[in-house]
This record gives sequence, C-alpha cells and structure tokens, in this order.
Amino acid sequence: MPSEVILARGLVKRYGDLEAVAGIDFRVEQGECFGFLGVNGAGKTTTLRMVQCVLAPTAGQLRVLGRDVASQARQIKARLGVVPQADNLDPDLTVRENLRVYSRYFGIRRRQAYERIAELLRFVQLDERAHEPVANLSGGMQRRLVLARAMINSPQLMLLDEPTTGLDPQARHMVWGRLRSLRAAGVTMLLTTHYMEEAAQLCDRVAVIDAGQILMLGRPEELVREHVGERCIELRPTQAGREGLAERLADLDAHCEQAGDTVFIYPRGQLDWGAIAAIPHERLLERSASLEDLFLQLTGRELRR
Ligand code: ATP
Repeated sequence: MPSEVILARGLVKRYGDLEAVAGIDFRVEQGECFGFLGVNGAGKTTTLRMVQCVLAPTAGQLRVLGRDVASQARQIKARLGVVPQADNLDPDLTVRENLRVYSRYFGIRRRQAYERIAELLRFVQLDERAHEPVANLSGGMQRRLVLARAMINSPQLMLLDEPTTGLDPQARHMVWGRLRSLRAAGVTMLLTTHYMEEAAQLCDRVAVIDAGQILMLGRPEELVREHVGERCIELRPTQAGREGLAERLADLDAHCEQAGDTVFIYPRGQLDWGAIAAIPHERLLERSASLEDLFLQLTGRELRR
C-alpha cells in the first residue's frame, strides 16, 4: 500500500491555447499538509480542482487516495473534504440546515448526522448560531461554516483553496488552530494560499508555482535557509539616501533587492552595519528571513497584470 495520498506525474491542464498547468510532478504523503504558493493565475486552483475530480487533466497521471481520478472519481470524492475559494453556502437555509444538506449527499443517516453536526459546530465555535440563517453570519463565520461542512464526511484528504482569505486575524488564528488539530489527527491536507505566514504556520512542505510550473518544492524553513539565508535588513532611504545608492549597495557582501521605496538586503557574510547605517534613511530594521522573501525573490516583486 503506497503511503502517498496524491501522486501527480507530468500533470497538464490546457484551456484552449493556455497551458494553465504545464506538466507538474508532486506527491503528498499520508498525514502531510502540502501548500501551493503562487501569484494570481499561477495554476493553483486548476491543480486543486483536478485533485478534486471536477476538472479532467489534459495529460499526465493523477492518483488520489490510491485511485485514478479519471476512472474512480466517485470513490475519491466520497473521502474528500473541500473548502472552495468562494463560500457557496445556501443563504436561505440555517447554519444547521446547510450541514444537513451536505450530510445527505454523503448518505449519512439522520441520527448520526445530528450528532456529527453538533460536534462540528462546536469545533468551529458556531454552536450558538445553529438555528440562524446563514445570511446573518459575518464573512469569517461563513468561512468557518464552510470548513465544518468540508468535514461532515470525516474526510481523509482536505482540499483548501485559500482557507483564510478575508478573515480577521483572530478568525485566521482560530482556523489555523483547527487545521493543525486536524493534521494532528492524521488528516492529509492540500492547500493554496497567498499568505506566506499561513504556509509557514501550517505546511510541512510547499511548492512555489508560477505559470503552471513548479519553481521550487521543499520544507519552508529549509527553502528559506538555503535560498535566502538567515536574516534580512529592510532599508527605506530618504531622498538624499537614494543618491549613489546602487554603488553603496554594490560594496556590501549581500544580495540586494528593491521593491517600491524599500531595499531588502540579504547578507552573504559579515555585514558592514556602519556602511548601511550611514545611508540616510527613514527606516532601518533587521529581521529573520521568511518564506515571503523567498516567494518575492522567485516570482518577482512587481505586481502582475
Ligand atoms: P488565483 O491565485 O488568482 O486564484 P490560481 O493560481 O488559482 O490563481 P488558476 O485559477 O488555476 O490560477 O488559473 C490559471 C490560469 O488558467 C489563469 O491564466 C486563468 O485565467 C486560466 N483559467 C482558469 N480557469 C479557466 C477556464 N475555465 N477557462 C479558461 N482559462 C481559465
């Protein structure tokens, strides 16, 4: 019995002339949380929807939970939990009824569904809202309800498309905590996110995807250490500090990147702090290098159009 929950080899999805997913290889192991990071339009949702068996691959091999997506979609779907990018709850039904409808899709008996729904609503802290229409809930509460709904069939694999987009910090931390407890219980997760902190908090491994191709794949902390280093210095020079800036930066033993009005300095060896502090500046700070630094270095700092 293979330990992988997802196995993709040479996976391709074309929409007409556009190759949205351009022949990617990855595997997700049992109990792992695997994240796809990428700019808008990179191919993350397309990949997720192929794993979800709602979009057919154009070419390549894709096996999920030991089965082939083309011929055994029904068996795979029965064991999946899905949090889609947009909340697609029924606003006319109550919180409880939304879950009840889903429990019927999975053929869960009434009595069992009743208990499972009560347990899930406690899990996402919505038990006191059970009888209210969904339309009364805030965006963050609706997102938590979608998470509860995705768990109705006790899935072995959860697919989460930007699970915390639009949530306030409290709600985001609450969802992260819940997802970590699911992972601790052995549930495998595949997620997409634009939040590098989310990836760092949740993911055992990440793949950075751009224009349908995987640029880099590995453990977040190892990727950062290997490709970015330990530290980053952020420098926002004043108008005067911009004079001759390129030459002053070139003298440093560091890799430097500029984005907007800020320079990001990644030291290679011993850093000449005096030389940096001597550049007239509005802001100067040192921090740990992060996944965000890696992502921006790989995909560019310019906003894609
Ligand atoms: P985002 O972060 O914005 O959600 P993404 O990485 O999830 O982006 P996808 O939604 O997978 O990106 O889209 C990948 C590419 O495929 C984009 O260029 C998109 O415009 C295109 N695309 C997606 N769905 C379709 C479709 N149904 N028909 C044609 N092109 C599509």
